[in-house]
Amino acid sequence: MRNVVIIGSGCAGNTAAIYSARANLKPLVVAGHEAGGQLSLTTLVENFPGFPEGINGPDLVENMKLQAQNFGAEYLHGSVIDADLSKRPFRLNVEGEWIETLTLIVASGASARWLGLESEQKLIGHGVSSCATCDGFFYRGKKIMVIGGGDSAMEEANFLSRFGSEVTLVHRREEFRASKIMLDRARDNPKIKFLLNTVVEEIHDVSKQLVSGVRLRNRKTNEVWDQEVDGFFLAIGHIPNTKVFKGQIETDADGYILSKGGARTNIAGVFHAGDVQDRVYRQAITASGAGCMAAIEVEKFLEAEGH
Ligand code: NAP
Repeated sequence: MRNVVIIGSGCAGNTAAIYSARANLKPLVVAGHEAGGQLSLTTLVENFPGFPEGINGPDLVENMKLQAQNFGAEYLHGSVIDADLSKRPFRLNVEGEWIETLTLIVASGASARWLGLESEQKLIGHGVSSCATCDGFFYRGKKIMVIGGGDSAMEEANFLSRFGSEVTLVHRREEFRASKIMLDRARDNPKIKFLLNTVVEEIHDVSKQLVSGVRLRNRKTNEVWDQEVDGFFLAIGHIPNTKVFKGQIETDADGYILSKGGARTNIAGVFHAGDVQDRVYRQAITASGAGCMAAIEVEKFLEAEGH
């Protein structure tokens, strides 16, 4: 029987682990299918306080994990595939093995959204990517396409313009979600071309197991054409990882956990932390702050029960 299980090993999960380990709760962290969370997919992080020169995302998150382990937190590889939160102790199935716990912190984050095309799914890792910072390097001097109209798309297009011979940004509308400063930066970049009101219908070429081009359609004129592309980057948002708790933990229509004040969910003893609940701030520092809040709430909750 665990005092607390933390699902997720990004900033939120690791910070919750540091705090609950220091409170002697011997937390178990289930690392999840994207261990380290979003920071493990980035390079330099310049806005996490305490690092005047910046710090590499993977180093920052690994340091947090080591810090938690130094205080006795345990880490388990794998993901939660089933959960019973109907009564306590809560039961979690981690890759086939059931674990019981008095409390739970859900810090499972949000994963990249895909278009859902069959060709896209077949070419992931063969020219299709959701992480510019991870894969941009492979497209030096090549033709790159970025999909999306938010800040992520602008940021990724700018970043990828360091590598590619050209970057085409494809957005399905004319209006952008991106902030003005990010949009202006992309517009001022001579390597970035914008294709608006445009959607991707197919990515070529599955038979060759590499990206050689895309079929595009203008939503206004219905014109369809093929364009040569070597690297295809999605930047169309994220989906919260709450599927396994569907029908148990209350979420909004998009699957983000609904907060019931502080780090509380609708289930007493189940707490949230980080991007799995936060669709607004989504920063490393806010996720860490949320992890801290959840751990303190767990501590108080268990104390009130006399544990
Ligand atoms: P976002 O703001 O939700 O934007 C997603 C974009 O993808 C939208 O333009 C959306 O189009 C498009 N999209 C969604 N599904 C699509 C589909 N199936 N096909 C084609 N296009 C699709 O997501 P985000 O850009 O990842 O940003 C998330 C949050 O992080 C925001 O709050 C953002 O400000 C923040 N962020 C900040 C920075 C920064 O300041 N440095 C960098 C990155 C992200 P529609 O507009 O038509 O819906």
